[in-house]
Parts: sequence; C-alpha cells; structure tokens
Amino acid sequence: MKNTDFSRRDFIQRLSALSAGLSSIPLIGSAGAQGYQDEYARIHSLLAKPESTSIFQPGRKLGIALVGLGSYSKNQLAPALQQTQNCRLAGIVTGTPSKAEEWMKKYNIPKENVYDYKTFDRIADNKDIDVVYVVLPNSMHREYVVRAAQAGKHVICEKPMAITEKDCQAMIDACKKANKQLAIGYRLHYEPFTKEVMRLGQEKVFGPVKFMESSDAFRIGDPTQWRMKKEFAGGGPLMDVGIYAVQGARYVTGEEPISVTAQFSPKTEPQKFKDVEETLFWQFQFPSGAVCNSTTSYTAGVERLYASCQNGWFELSPAFGYGPLKGRTSKGPIEQPVVNHQAMHMDGVCKNLIDGKKLPDHITGEEGLRDVRLLQAIYRAAETGRKIDLKA
Ligand code: NAD
Repeated sequence: MKNTDFSRRDFIQRLSALSAGLSSIPLIGSAGAQGYQDEYARIHSLLAKPESTSIFQPGRKLGIALVGLGSYSKNQLAPALQQTQNCRLAGIVTGTPSKAEEWMKKYNIPKENVYDYKTFDRIADNKDIDVVYVVLPNSMHREYVVRAAQAGKHVICEKPMAITEKDCQAMIDACKKANKQLAIGYRLHYEPFTKEVMRLGQEKVFGPVKFMESSDAFRIGDPTQWRMKKEFAGGGPLMDVGIYAVQGARYVTGEEPISVTAQFSPKTEPQKFKDVEETLFWQFQFPSGAVCNSTTSYTAGVERLYASCQNGWFELSPAFGYGPLKGRTSKGPIEQPVVNHQAMHMDGVCKNLIDGKKLPDHITGEEGLRDVRLLQAIYRAAETGRKIDLKA
C-alpha cells in the first residue's frame, strides 16, 4: 500500500504552492504546542478552501448524513463535524426517535433531514445531503452502502468495510454503477504521525524494514454488545481493531503480504468468548523479506507499531487510537502536529469530492476489500494451522 500521494513532502509542496507568504511551521519545541496547533489550524483552513474548478457552489460545505448514532457517531464524528471546513453534519438516520429529538436540538438539524431505517431511501430527494456516512455494526455496512449509492449519494463506510469479501465487492459494484465514490473510514491516513511512519518505511529512511511488530488490542466491556457476536461483527478483535495492525504493516512497508500464518490463543474466559476469538496472533511475510508479527485481543491491551530497519528503528505507541499519537525513532522523537483525526479524514475525502477528483486508492472500497481479504486469510490460517499463500 503506497501512500506517496499523501506524503509529508507532498503536503509541504502543496503548502508552498498555495501560500508563498505563509510562515514556516514551527516545531513544538520552538513555538509550544498551542502555537503549533493554531498555525496548523490556519494552514488546514487554507488547504481546505474549495478551488475554483469546484463543481459545487463555492464555499458550500458538503452535507453529511450519519447512519447509526452509536458511540462513534456521538463521541467522535458529530463533534469532528463541528470543526470541518469542507463538510457539515446535515442529516441523521436512526431507529430511535428519542435520539433523533436530541440530535435535532443539539446540532440544529431540520426535521426533513432526519430519517429512520425504513424512510432512509427518501434521502435520494434531499439536496442537503451529498454524502452518507455508514456507522453501523459491521454486517449492516453492505445494505446501507448499497442503498446510499442507489439513492445517488457518495458514501463513507466505517471499517471493517464488511464481514465478507463478497459483501465488499457488492458495495464497490453498487457505487460504481451509481457513479458515486466510496471511501472507508481510514482516519489514520490523514493523521500526521501515521503519514510520517509511512514515509519513514516506504522511503527507507532507516534502510529497508527487516522486521515489525504491529499490534492493537484492548479489554472489552459489555459482553452482550454486537462486537461479541459473529453474526454482526464477522469475528472478534481482529475485525474490530486487528484491522489497524494489518493496515500498519501494509502502510509502513508499502507492500502487500505474500503469506500469513496465525494462531488463536487458548480462551482464558470461555464463557465470555463463546462466539468470537479472545486473542489472535499472526505473522505476515512481505516480498522484500520483511516480516511482521501481530497481536489482537479483547482481553488485554497493546497499541504499538514498531519497525526495525537495517540502519535504525522507528515506532508509534500509541499508534492507532484517537490520539494524541506518540512516536520516536533511533535518532529521537517524532514531532508532528496533533490533529482531530475524524475532521482531517472527512475534510480530506470531501475535498476530493468537491474538486470532482477520484479518491486516492488507499482509502477507497478497493482498499477496504484488500483488508477484509487479509482478515479472512488470517482466520483461515489460524483455523487450519497452515501457512496461507497470499500471492494467488
Ligand atoms: P455502537 O454499538 O456504539 O453503535 C452502533 C449503532 O448502530 C447504534 O446506534 C445502534 O442503535 C445502531 N444499530 C442499528 N441496528 C442495529 C442492530 N441490529 N444491532 C446493533 N446496533 C444497531 O457501535 P460503534 O462503536 O459506533 O461502531 C459502529 C461502526 O463504526 C463499526 O463498524 C465500528 O467498527 C466503527 N468504528 C470505527 C472507529 C474508527 O476509529 N474508525 C471507531 C469506533 C467504531
């Protein structure tokens, strides 16, 4: 997975092209974190201004409708949409009337932009809504992405894209047929610490990556939630947060794995983990010879992306959460601005839509499908005890 189109160098080049008069970006150490953040917010707003070639009304923010008002929508996406430059919270889709009332008041959403799961398809007639953002349990992504595309809307879909490759393909096909774009909620692809480790790995700043650790795990609470049900989640922690570890290995190396081996841990809480795995380990091998060892779990935590290279090392820890992320290398700390991941992601996606440009490959449905294919291969490797060849 090459992300050179979103490299730090590209970011800096775009900055200079846009604003010759901008002062240079101070480092945290010299300007202080607040000064840095103010400067970053100013630059972000300059970058976010729609260009004159926009097919949309100049200055108009794209309207996003959130489908599913659970914890990610409530605690992350809706607050982020109060900070975005290219999009705004324009509508909601919920099956709970009391949530609809609360959100309409809190975010000033007009009644005509509120739908339930039955009336959802009428969103086709709503000119206020440009993008539908699907934030439902994993197994429901397919239905709502397909319906959104059929309603003539661009779509953002949360990770994991779906629970089977077949579902992913159906979603891609539906968006293509409707001539609409499909982005996955890969917020880290717009996050500066993550972009820096993509650069360090892909540009071989410390020489070629030799071996890596990429792990994401936490201790889950309520055992009755949909995440603990295979029917809804498609699996356990691998589907939920293990996908970040898969992404990390791919975006640091910029390569696609050629084989995988995997092992389930014994269940230490069998009553709790009846339907999904508790802990899972896997090992990817890459064409360059780099290997990556990974862990995901719902029983205890780890959040680390570490790469050992021929001439040094670099790491992020925490590496995948909402931030602030933290990084260091064999030469010292990684200094990057702290941003709101969700705002950067939605603004980035919407900028492409406003400009009428194709979304970069690494956040599209095709990328979501690549990950789901790998997640399925990891399960197959753990179930069979065999090394799975991924070259085919
Ligand atoms: P959640 O359980 O908090 O919310 C799920 C929402 O779906 C609720 O509003 C619920 O009412 C609704 N829903 C509709 N039909 C349902 C059904 N049959 N069963 C259960 N819920 C139903 O979940 P969440 O944490 O908001 O996760 C939603 C999606 O967002 C998941 O795909 C998850 O992987 C993804 N997510 C992504 C990130 C990220 O950082 N990108 C973070 C958290 C969650």
